Amino acid sequence: MQFEQQQDFRALVDQYPRAIMIATKEPRITYVNRMFCSVTGYQPDNVLGAPPSILSAGLHAPEYYQAMWQSLASEGRWEGLVWNRKKSGEIYPQWLSIYPMEFEGRQAYVGIFMDMGERGGADERLASLAYYDPLTELPNRSLFQEFLKARVSQYSRGNDRFGILFIDLDFFKTINDLHGHDCGDGVLKQAAMCIESVVREGDIVARLSGDEFAVIVELSGRDELNEVCQRTVQAFQAPVIVGQREYFLSASIGAVVYPVHGKSGAELLQKADRAMYAAKLAGRACYRIYSEADDEQGRREQQLSEALTASLKTSPGEFHVVYQPQYDLGSGRVVGMEALLRWDHPEFGSVSPADFVPLAERRGEIHEMTQQLVRGILADLLNGPPSLPGKFRLAINISARQITDARLGLAIGPLFARIREIGWLPEIEITETHIMHLSSQCLETLRAFRDQGVAIAIDDFGTGYSSLAYLQNLPVQVLKIDRQFIGGLGTKNRDSRIVSAILGIAEALDLEVVAEGIETRVQYLELCQLGCQRGQGFLMAKPQPWQRVKAILVDPYQ
Ligand code: C2E
Ligand code: MG
Ligand code: MG
Repeated sequence: MQFEQQQDFRALVDQYPRAIMIATKEPRITYVNRMFCSVTGYQPDNVLGAPPSILSAGLHAPEYYQAMWQSLASEGRWEGLVWNRKKSGEIYPQWLSIYPMEFEGRQAYVGIFMDMGERGGADERLASLAYYDPLTELPNRSLFQEFLKARVSQYSRGNDRFGILFIDLDFFKTINDLHGHDCGDGVLKQAAMCIESVVREGDIVARLSGDEFAVIVELSGRDELNEVCQRTVQAFQAPVIVGQREYFLSASIGAVVYPVHGKSGAELLQKADRAMYAAKLAGRACYRIYSEADDEQGRREQQLSEALTASLKTSPGEFHVVYQPQYDLGSGRVVGMEALLRWDHPEFGSVSPADFVPLAERRGEIHEMTQQLVRGILADLLNGPPSLPGKFRLAINISARQITDARLGLAIGPLFARIREIGWLPEIEITETHIMHLSSQCLETLRAFRDQGVAIAIDDFGTGYSSLAYLQNLPVQVLKIDRQFIGGLGTKNRDSRIVSAILGIAEALDLEVVAEGIETRVQYLELCQLGCQRGQGFLMAKPQPWQRVKAILVDPYQ
């Protein structure tokens, strides 16, 4: 019975789904199981009696092993990442646990490990470890840090250069907010595959958190880091398909090279992160290799971002609203105006909404920002708004991200009620790039606004990728032609043709048109000739405070 049990135990260990090796103190290998043979490629005959160092890739510094022995002596176990060499010569990372034990009456050590580079069919092993991201099956942040530490220690032994890419998806939060988490998960999986498709076998791709990924890339040539970054940016250009819908993704990438940009894994990763931030600032969908100057700008942005949070919370007085009149181009009469938020910070001065709106979006504070806008307009309207003939419009800008936010209605409801009370019409502007990605739920919300008599305008029209079929079904009444096309009117034939085409589309879909950014008489006249009805721009009036704009409204032909 006793004997049979021993046989059973032996079979259990032999067929255990992880590699097991026992070595004596000398040290000599005295036992290996089947999984050991399939991972390493060695047969028992090749290794029994040999020192465990025959498995070593020779990459770790002696201090690495000293620390291992120390921990074995003091804690009775050791666990970590070791780079070893297979019989074929291939170097691979293994996750190794070592325990002391008694074997055949002698002091010995048992090592249990698995090949971390290999993922297929290893679900059960992976699930038992806290080192893989279950969604993408990529190594997670902890394992990535281990890889990085090990790679740095290899380099200090004279191994080739390597780089680190820090990859962050652009506007992932919008996809998640607008289309739900299942869709977000699908997109992340596709993104992981996309990254894996551009790096080489042996390079390490990990998911750090949320929509952040990182890669360790082996470099041989000078320009190789640039090439990998470029390939990654390009790989994101093809649409990904999740649940029968196409999504256009893009990624911002920061890159560093060891040892140029840092000596430790932590420092490298931090700088790659900051370089990624510089890529975001440079307009996203691009990469940046770490530079001090970018870093400085990033820090300023960070400070600005923190200042914005503080100001929104504690200094509402720093925000005010300016109004830019909109004109009927034929008669020259003021027929509406656009409210634009302003932020004056004691240290940073007057910050443009083009700079602080994206910050508020990124920090999830866009709602608080809209509250300041509403507060400002309501305060202005309190003090004697002129009653105006016709359907005078007051437009505000809204971020697409806010549309599903239940707080939006609560915030702008009272404003719209007040606008109607004085006999004007409320209008909402949403930028074209965002309006094309709205879910059916968002469109429902927009329809509800329209049904309450709110005009919906597509802002910066011509810069996004509107599909005409889609446009036709949007609850939209107004197209605002982006000012980049107005700038070339009278000088660039191409811009005249584009504006004319937009006017044609608007006519076919029964939409009104507003031209933005009219700066010269030539542009004004050309717009009149092309048949554009409404416009706004510095030529007629700049955005200005309520008191001044009121004077214009009282004398609408001013
Ligand atoms: P937008 O909605 O396209 O607003 C028009 C921008 O063009 C304004 O810049 C305005 O000052 C500028 N502009 C008007 N006429 C001319 C012109 O003739 N020449 C030139 N060069 N520029 C002209 P501003 O006020 O800096 O706003 C920038 C953007 O910030 C806005 O673009 C809008 O998208 C956003 N924004 C402003 N206020 C808010 C707000 O309260 N909420 C949200 N979500 N976004 C806002
Ligand atoms: Mg606007
Ligand atoms: Mg615009």
